[in-house]
Amino acid sequence: MLALPSGVSPAVNACPACPARLAAMARLARPHARTTLDDALPSAHLRRMDASLPSIPFDNSYARLPDGFFARVRPTPVAEPRLLLLNEPLARDLGLDVGQLRAPGGVSTLAGNALPDGADPLAMAYAGHQFGNWVPQLGDGRAILLGEILDDAGTRRDLQLKGAGRTPFSRGGDGRAWLGPVLREYVVSEAMAALGVPTTRALAAVATGETVLRETALPGAVLTRVARSHVRVGTFQFFIARGDIDAVRALVEHVARRHYPETLEADNPPLALLEAVIAAQAELVSHWQSIGFVHGVMNTDNCSISGDTIDYGPCAFLDDYDPETVFSSIDRAGRYAYRNQPQLAQWNLANLAQCLLPLIDEDGERAIALAQAAVDAFDSCHEVAWQRRFAAKLGLADTRPDDAELVRDLLDTMASGHADFTLAFRRLSDDATTARTLYDEPAAFDAWHTRWLDRVADDPRPASERAAAMQRINPAVIPRNHRVEAMIVAAVAGDLEPLDTLVSTLADPFSGDADASELTTPPEPGERVTATFCGT
Ligand code: AMP
Ligand code: MG
Repeated sequence: MLALPSGVSPAVNACPACPARLAAMARLARPHARTTLDDALPSAHLRRMDASLPSIPFDNSYARLPDGFFARVRPTPVAEPRLLLLNEPLARDLGLDVGQLRAPGGVSTLAGNALPDGADPLAMAYAGHQFGNWVPQLGDGRAILLGEILDDAGTRRDLQLKGAGRTPFSRGGDGRAWLGPVLREYVVSEAMAALGVPTTRALAAVATGETVLRETALPGAVLTRVARSHVRVGTFQFFIARGDIDAVRALVEHVARRHYPETLEADNPPLALLEAVIAAQAELVSHWQSIGFVHGVMNTDNCSISGDTIDYGPCAFLDDYDPETVFSSIDRAGRYAYRNQPQLAQWNLANLAQCLLPLIDEDGERAIALAQAAVDAFDSCHEVAWQRRFAAKLGLADTRPDDAELVRDLLDTMASGHADFTLAFRRLSDDATTARTLYDEPAAFDAWHTRWLDRVADDPRPASERAAAMQRINPAVIPRNHRVEAMIVAAVAGDLEPLDTLVSTLADPFSGDADASELTTPPEPGERVTATFCGT
């Protein structure tokens, strides 16, 4: 056995998407016929080869993998699709025609009511550790991959409908999504992209005209998610748990070609792939930390091999800086707290390493030694990335040995002074006298600020250049949780204005216009929203 990183809090909480909860939800929901692989038969509601459907240049490499990797399944049509949001810049990047997507055939496609030519819809198989508990079969229970498109830059991207109906992996669930999680994922994933963080993207949100039963009846919606791929650590775990080494080998090859082609040339390609994923995840988590992002559900099935942020269920951003912050209502042990994210990513990667052992070396002992060294290297990879990002946030053009302490001391003063994380960094680069007003006790900030002024006096860049560089990486706006929640409440009541404001302001989070937005304001004590939900 590979040694997993220690000190991770025990697995005590089940995800609300667990079979028991889904079974309870299903009892509430309309009875569904069980979806099987035979459902790939033509359906009266679904049209193919229809000239009015958007033309999408699909090239479906995942669908060419062996049978056990997925189940072919068509989306279940919805009653009355209505386009709520279309991400036109992303559509153009993908080489898609915005007019076609907005037309009835496009909306039908984005709702799962019609299949454009070349789509090969399927649900991917995967397993995973949810809050540390092993679940041998998860899989796309409410998401259906329509296919992959190659964009102008030659990047292959998945087009997936989330909330598209039941699949053979739905267990007791209804395969649907309600409007709240769909809009949360749209807004937050697009904000992350604008913040420069590697992430899945949101192409569209469509209201279904149907209700979804959760604790109460809620409006249904479908999100079109775009990703460099949807392969997760849990995809590898699915096959290794079944002893299917050939499948793991095929998956390594697929992922290497798609995301890390340089590893194919390495002496030990599976080990090189593991190292590449570890480096990508170390970068990713440091990026999250640098913007105060708490992912909230870092299960192995939500840890993407491409190094992109995936699964925007219970995620939220820090307001006041408190490293113990946990938003997810089910994370009672604080497993996925802001502070624990690097360690949990490493835990997930140790699980990936475990899957790759038989391919890394025939000699088990040697395989373990090599994999362990790769997993251990996460710490230094992450520390280097973290220091580089936070030094840049402080406007330091180069990093020096003492800089990490300067950063940590600032974070400590922010924690004890209950300072707003985003605004403290933003104001530091702008007008430090307004930064001090964020603190309960500004004296602690003042002492730190004097040290910072001494340090930057030594920095080669002129002050104006430094300030401009800081403004380019310290955002003025983030999707604050109270705003996201208020937007969802408004949208459910039929008011989409807060949604439009969030989407447009968060598209340019570093601009002077963003500084002027009311979205910069932290919540008043009574406005704070401290609990989030898995998005089921
Ligand atoms: P998530 O919390 O999104 O990571 O989902 C965990 C697992 O639960 C995945 O296998 C999902 O496909 C499945 N799941 C979540 N919500 C539903 C739903 N409404 N219907 C069917 N499966 C679901
Ligand atoms: Mg997930």
